[in-house]
Amino acid sequence: MCLLWNRLEVNGMTPEVESMILSRYGNRGLRAIRGVQKNRIKKYQDLWVVVGDEEYVVINERFCTCSDYLYEISSRGEGPELCWHAIAVKIAMRTEAYSGFEEWYYKYLTEL
Ligand SMILES: [Zn+2]
Repeated sequence: MCLLWNRLEVNGMTPEVESMILSRYGNRGLRAIRGVQKNRIKKYQDLWVVVGDEEYVVINERFCTCSDYLYEISSRGEGPELCWHAIAVKIAMRTEAYSGFEEWYYKYLTEL
């Protein structure tokens, strides 16, 4: 896994890196790559946000507020360890493919 993210950081999104992401994360990887291409990733002062059907908050490149993370990932001991939002954030931060905001996102959170 480290190899994959190191390659991405050094070489950018090459076809090789892309196929590594797809073979490791399958459909979630594909959605992440597409999401980054469509500029769906936002970096606030405090949090990363991915725009899907709604806005999801990703923390520490892992925890996410989406139902995929809640029901399919965090509640199971095995299987995928990241939802597509978290994968997208990992890609975006290493390729600088995100929109930066000089604001604090927590102000928009009504509950967390
Ligand atoms: Zn998610």
